[in-house]
Amino acid sequence: MEREVQRVRDAFRSGRSRPLGFRLQQLEALRRMMQEREKDILAAVGADLCKSEFNAYSHEIITILGEIDLVMEKLPEWVTAEPAKKNLLTMMDEAYVQPEPLGVVLIIGAWNYPLVLVIQPLIGAIAAGNAVIIKPSELSENTANILAKLLPQYIDQDLYVVINGGVEETTQLLRQRFDHIFYTGSTTVGKIVMEAAAKHLTPVTLELGGKSPCYVDKDCDLDIACRRITWGKYLNCGQTCIAPDYILCEPSLQSQIVQKIKETVQEFYGENIKESPDYERIINLRHFKRILSLLEGQKIAFGGEADEATRYIAPTILTDVNPETKVMQEEIFGPILPIVPVKNADEAIQFINEREKPLAFYVFSHNNKLVKRMIDETSSGGVTVNDVIMHFTLSSLPFGGVGSSGMGAYHGKHSFDTFSHHRPCLVKSLKGESANKLRYPPNSQSKVDWAKFFILKRFNKGKLGLLLLTFLGIVAAVLVKREHFLNKFSLQNLKW
Ligand code: NAD
Repeated sequence: MEREVQRVRDAFRSGRSRPLGFRLQQLEALRRMMQEREKDILAAVGADLCKSEFNAYSHEIITILGEIDLVMEKLPEWVTAEPAKKNLLTMMDEAYVQPEPLGVVLIIGAWNYPLVLVIQPLIGAIAAGNAVIIKPSELSENTANILAKLLPQYIDQDLYVVINGGVEETTQLLRQRFDHIFYTGSTTVGKIVMEAAAKHLTPVTLELGGKSPCYVDKDCDLDIACRRITWGKYLNCGQTCIAPDYILCEPSLQSQIVQKIKETVQEFYGENIKESPDYERIINLRHFKRILSLLEGQKIAFGGEADEATRYIAPTILTDVNPETKVMQEEIFGPILPIVPVKNADEAIQFINEREKPLAFYVFSHNNKLVKRMIDETSSGGVTVNDVIMHFTLSSLPFGGVGSSGMGAYHGKHSFDTFSHHRPCLVKSLKGESANKLRYPPNSQSKVDWAKFFILKRFNKGKLGLLLLTFLGIVAAVLVKREHFLNKFSLQNLKW
């Protein structure tokens, strides 16, 4: 493992990952891989999650192609140094922020969207000029294997390396030194990753999970709300990190919600859900059993059927759920939707705030004031109002968690920023040495007064103010040059 990481580091040190042209060429090759090997990739994702080609394409490949397009278009702009504002003391100098690669990045992915969860951060890491080690989830082994096979055929084999394996291999990898670790997975393992990273002071991005609440107000379009919730909850058989985990609503709404979701499930997946090509399966037996155990002692208003041989669990709704029961203690990550009755929006806000900060928060309401209040008075990684999941699809929005749902963010420019160090650069002019006497010893009261003036004074007078300041700067420079004048002609004597 150590040798493998060293090989990637050596490749990074060669400097070839840095030029803009090289980064674009690698991204272009990644796009080619997605297009030329689409069938193989779709088959691998399909085999892992029992997913149709249509769904594998729309859940995974489309996002990746969209991200590559965006990054390739914008990268020339993103890599360009950004001029920084200057003050009086740096008027003659050059100040800018230059993004630079961090070095060798480790990307650890989860199994639920096994392709996009490693390739989307990889795009950002390549765009920012890094070398990358990719560790796909061992639970989605078909995708992990196809990535290990295809990536070296398309992108630089020494700079971007796939390492496959389970807990043991990941533990060994985490002992190595990286310049950034980007982890997607559970909160429990997130803590292990952060602890390992701390040993090397390695910064981390943690894309974790949590229980994302969905408040359904009585003043909302219940038909639309239930259609959208049905889509987001049962997408990928509920194995989506930002799926609405549970519904909060007034007790009287429960039966209507159950009825409408039931009708929508039938519309989406047909009479025989098991036969629907759009309904996936649970990733493995361990998760299958874990999800079924959450049903114990609950009132099943709809669904509840399961088949161990195929790891099928039907779209299920639980009503009158007691918040103290197991289903409300952990992230469900399966097709079970508990409804927890609350008296009103105040109680919903309190309920959310008494728990860990979720990855997403959803609210359905016509009442804009209420929506604003719910956003202002709660916290979550992201929010979508009157829909679910969709904030993920907008690359201008940073995607990530807060508190126990994670730290850091990515997508689009946010990925580029995550994998870059924004290096502040000040290129001083060799002129104006006389003004610098202000900071050289010996110090004096008048020097302190001038320094206070230059550094602390705020002028909001537009161009005129700036001109005045420049003029004063010149005066100060001249005065400082003649140090003995400073005491006579101090700031105290100036009338403003
Ligand atoms: P997982 O089991 O695939 O684990 C994720 C990664 O962690 C894998 O690569 C695995 O090898 C590694 N890993 C597992 N145990 C480890 C250990 N003890 N030490 C070191 N590495 C270890 O996936 P999971 O954890 O079941 O993922 C599901 C969780 O991920 C859910 O909570 C979900 O909400 C979250 N998730 C979050 C996002 C997001 O974008 N925030 C996306 C997808 C999933």
